[in-house]
Amino acid sequence: MPLIEALRASPALLVGGVAVLGLLIGSFLNVVSLRLPRMMEADWRKQAAQILEELPLPDPAARPVTLYSPRSCCPSCGAAIRPWHNIPLFGWLWLRGRCADCGKPISVQYPLLELAAAVLAAACAWRFGWGLQLAAALGLSWTLLVLTAIDFREQLLPDSITLPLLWTGLVLNAFGLFAGPSASIAGAALGYLGLRGVYELFKLATGKEGMGHGDFKLLAALGAWFGAGALPMIILLSSLVGSVVGLSLILLRGRDRNQPISFGPYLAGAGWLMLIWGDVLRRLAYP
Ligand SMILES: [Zn+2]
Repeated sequence: MPLIEALRASPALLVGGVAVLGLLIGSFLNVVSLRLPRMMEADWRKQAAQILEELPLPDPAARPVTLYSPRSCCPSCGAAIRPWHNIPLFGWLWLRGRCADCGKPISVQYPLLELAAAVLAAACAWRFGWGLQLAAALGLSWTLLVLTAIDFREQLLPDSITLPLLWTGLVLNAFGLFAGPSASIAGAALGYLGLRGVYELFKLATGKEGMGHGDFKLLAALGAWFGAGALPMIILLSSLVGSVVGLSLILLRGRDRNQPISFGPYLAGAGWLMLIWGDVLRRLAYP
């Protein structure tokens, strides 16, 4: 395959090609981040209705939302999105962030997530070059990105994403892709137990729930990907950034300090830094 040969031979082409792929994937991540929480909510309603019989069952004729249907449309006027306006990043820029039919603003999340997916992918290509590590790094980066988007909006880290991420890390490291098999297994267990321990202590001390169970599973997944030795640095980085951002939100916006702040985006961010600069960070942690 001449294309693969070219990507192998030219780092610049690889970085560029992977960035374009990132734009396309980012477009899909937008759909996942907006629809998956609605699909989960519909599912919870159905289960609740079955358990509490007085609740009406959802209308069986109503077409459920899935990742593939209905087609994308403007949330304000319902007009279908034309294919050329659906081009990642450029469609939004072309429309200057407004719906072509009703002129209502289109959320800046769409182009931001697409751009982020491209930038993260380019960084992975620059870091790893052609190979299996790059493929895994791309999958991890995009997964962490979609988790960040969902947790930021909904304070939710879906099991349907965190648990497969955990298994994938264990399987890849069975072959030592980013960490040895035993470090990976220990990382998964300690990541979960460590954060859960903090949570239980915090709950005992304050009677409040400081974080969600999704956070334990996300840290377990990161432990599986990078090994137990990476956990202290991931926790340190995420709590540093998390407290800086949290404090500035309280100071700037007068945000209620009892309102829970999602921790997932910081864990995901720290995990991604570990992916790209893991050796530097490890040297800092264990000089
Ligand atoms: Zn519209």
